[in-house]
Amino acid sequence: MSASSLSSGAESSGPRTTDARRPAANPWRVDLRELGRRAGSLHELDRTAPAPENWRVELIGVPAGADVHLRLRLESVMEGVLVSGDLDVPVTGSCARCLEPIEDTLSLDVQELYAYEGSTTEATSEEDEVRRIEGDHLDLEPLARDTVVLALPLAPVCSEDCAGLCVDCGQRLDDLPADHAHEIVDARWAGLAAKLGTDPSTSSPGAPGESPTTEEN
Ligand SMILES: [Zn+2]
Ligand SMILES: [Zn+2]
Repeated sequence: MSASSLSSGAESSGPRTTDARRPAANPWRVDLRELGRRAGSLHELDRTAPAPENWRVELIGVPAGADVHLRLRLESVMEGVLVSGDLDVPVTGSCARCLEPIEDTLSLDVQELYAYEGSTTEATSEEDEVRRIEGDHLDLEPLARDTVVLALPLAPVCSEDCAGLCVDCGQRLDDLPADHAHEIVDARWAGLAAKLGTDPSTSSPGAPGESPTTEEN
């Protein structure tokens, strides 16, 4: 046995460096080679992918790099690959009424056909009408982005019954007593009020213990 065969044997048993040499696989891209083209074949996919930037609307969005959890079924059909399932995505933003921070997780359903190159679906639809399979890969990111961005509310609320802010003092009404109010004193009476020693700006915010409503839960 020669020295060279010994050393090559030692090399092959060493740690594999294949993954280190190429850039980390893009988790948004799905290799379709395992699925194959036979109609009816099925592939389940359960993976986490980092949210890219710009998945947001004005007041709410997905933090860049946050984990997007995908649970999808890829089904080979005549024209391409049908992708269906759901994704969970964390969102952060602020309440449109009271500006309180919002943290939530959206669970969204997806169902979409990715058409094969050269399929009738591809040939008969406009460029932007149908998602396409690129070679033997499909890219889930545009589908996920469209699904998420369409689901983001333009006016997110911290709770459905958020009362917003007091128009007079700007405080969050849900943090204030139910009977929070400001006595609006007509400027013409301000002098009289001062004379009587009642300062309207420090008027009692409501007697404790006689709250008329018990709506809060
Ligand atoms: Zn709110
Ligand atoms: Zn107020």
